[in-house]
Amino acid sequence: MENMYRSTRDKKNTCKAKEAIVQGIASDGGLYVYDEIDRIELPLEKMMEMDYFQMAEVVLQALLPDFTKEEVKGCVDRAYRNKFDTEEITPLYKSGEDQYLELFHGPTSAFKDVGLSMLPQLMSTALKEKQDKKVMILTATSGDTGKAALEGFKDVERVGITVFYPYQGVSKIQQLQMSTQRGNNVSICAMKGNFDDAQTGVKNIFNDTSFQEEFAKDDVIFSSANSINIGRLIPQIVYYFYAYKKLVERKEIKLGEEVNFCVPTGNFGNILAGYYGKLMGLPVHKFIVASNANNVLYDFFNKGVYDRRRPFHKTFSPSMDILVSSNLERLLYYMSGKDADYIKDIMSQLKEDGQYQVSKDLLAKMQTMFYAGYASDEACAKVIKEKFTKDQYLMDPHTAVGYTVMKNYQKEDHEHICVLLSTASPYKFSGNVYASITNEDVNTMDEFTIMKKLEGISATTAPAPLKELEALPVLHQDVIEKEDMKTFIRKKTKEKLL
Ligand SMILES: *Cc1c(COP(=O)(O)O)cnc(C)c1O
Repeated sequence: MENMYRSTRDKKNTCKAKEAIVQGIASDGGLYVYDEIDRIELPLEKMMEMDYFQMAEVVLQALLPDFTKEEVKGCVDRAYRNKFDTEEITPLYKSGEDQYLELFHGPTSAFKDVGLSMLPQLMSTALKEKQDKKVMILTATSGDTGKAALEGFKDVERVGITVFYPYQGVSKIQQLQMSTQRGNNVSICAMKGNFDDAQTGVKNIFNDTSFQEEFAKDDVIFSSANSINIGRLIPQIVYYFYAYKKLVERKEIKLGEEVNFCVPTGNFGNILAGYYGKLMGLPVHKFIVASNANNVLYDFFNKGVYDRRRPFHKTFSPSMDILVSSNLERLLYYMSGKDADYIKDIMSQLKEDGQYQVSKDLLAKMQTMFYAGYASDEACAKVIKEKFTKDQYLMDPHTAVGYTVMKNYQKEDHEHICVLLSTASPYKFSGNVYASITNEDVNTMDEFTIMKKLEGISATTAPAPLKELEALPVLHQDVIEKEDMKTFIRKKTKEKLL
């Protein structure tokens, strides 16, 4: 059973990479994982000579063994060539003493583009072997996944996409990006609930066999564009290696030296990709998990108890307003020695009781590799202003969460270089960024006025796709109750795919 993906909750539930991408999530509710990953040793030294595209081919080929070399190369090219505003894809930018891995140079100005430019390519390739099938992508978004998935999947043949975002729970720009989306196969809908409600609703549908059977007779399969899909997660491993290469190239470190990565975290997808990189030989000392006021991961990594029964806070880093971090399940799978029965058990505790606790040993093991902290909106506003005043560098509010936690950690560890993953363009959250710097009241200004003001004070320019939103017609205005997700999906699947 080599080269197979298997469910975190059932060792016997296996399939090939292509199948795992088409399915998105395992039928038992578990996430697909690759048992052999810790036996893969990527050619680190050789990779130091590669550009982003070549590196992406190496990483993807290692984890997608049933894709041919030509298929992988084609996917990488179509995903990234001329789609990002730099051939570097994810440039490493040094400002003052700080190293920012800028992940927001793609079409929708957030790091989600790295995974979601690739996922549709992988999905289309996998679907070539299933000529009779159509796929409806169901996506829950805290703001950024939705737009990036829509851009990636719009007008892809035999694929439809439905996005649910929390009603009044995303930034104005994020909402406009989605509500102005073009494409014949797209559906977008605000849902009265938070991101966790949307994600739970979507996950329940993946586990609802009778709902799926309604559409199976018409050859429609449901799949996911969230980071529970390996096709979204695997491309994110690449930029960890790319950052490392840049540090070596600039003589900040020697080849083989360990570094830290600080990651603003919500669903635990981004940081998990880094951990996967480490399993395949990337020299990492610590991963720093940065949360906002929704600090369930901070509690978990410090006390060993995951407890989602707590108030949900709307913060000014909305893409991280999450209480159930799906991909933590994958980390626990590897950390527990690939114990699927154990994962099944704690995940059902989370569902039934709203919490679980891991053993002292397991906690200690995780703490050797992960440090967790959190930052309030006030702390973030303060560092956005400080960093701008000192170095004229603009951070978005999510990156500011990471920055605050990183600075706290650095009080204890002066030894290792730390790379901060910068997850969104500051222009995506112009209002909060501008207000943090100037203390002006932005509530009376419209988003595009604020964008121009931010350009004015910073001598930077807003990404063109964000500026263009002002002139685009709003095409999607549906708002539903959370109980009505299925009805919405039924209607849209019929409309778009049948
Ligand atoms: C999605 C998102 C995050 C959180 O990433 P996860 O992979 O969900 O942990 C952080 N910042 C921004 C800007 C995002 O869009």
